[in-house]
Amino acid sequence: MITPSELERLVMNVPDFPKPGIMFKDLTPIFLNPKAFQGLIEVFAERYRGENLDAVVAIESRGFVIGAPLAAALGVGLVLVRKPGKLPRPTHRRTYALEYGTDTLEMHQDAVRPGARVLIVDDVLATGGTAKAVSDLLGDAQAQIVEAAFVAELGFLSGRKRLAPTPVFAVLEY
Ligand code: AMP
Repeated sequence: MITPSELERLVMNVPDFPKPGIMFKDLTPIFLNPKAFQGLIEVFAERYRGENLDAVVAIESRGFVIGAPLAAALGVGLVLVRKPGKLPRPTHRRTYALEYGTDTLEMHQDAVRPGARVLIVDDVLATGGTAKAVSDLLGDAQAQIVEAAFVAELGFLSGRKRLAPTPVFAVLEY
């Protein structure tokens, strides 16, 4: 099993991207390294194998990179939460506030049945605004959120508090 410090060594910190003052966590070197990428998916798979999940809910677009192989490894469904206008059939939709302006996320209305046990997956937990919008979408669908899982959590932005009472798991904490 890969250790968090082995993964951490691969993360590239990119200052002032996409704008001044942001220290961007570039996880692409993990995806490029087969041992690290497989090891990362196995860390999540190990944690959730006994959880009797019905689906992994992945957030566009970097959440898809983690969510798709994880759903396949667990043998559960994959639900795609997408930017507006991408999903062809009726959706639940949530608009949430960003630092400047708003953003919207959508999920097919029939993707998650009431009572389904689901896991939210994304690459980085920052302020938690994005994952909170997804937990609201899952609330619209009356799903049961087992946990929200991330590769990296930026603890100083308190996203974990924003998501409460949903439990949060992150492999790497900053
Ligand atoms: P938030 O809604 O603030 O939690 O932001 C979460 C989304 O923005 C995630 O999907 C991340 O991909 C991205 N993000 C925010 N801050 C960073 C960062 N410092 N490095 C990499 N990605 C980030």
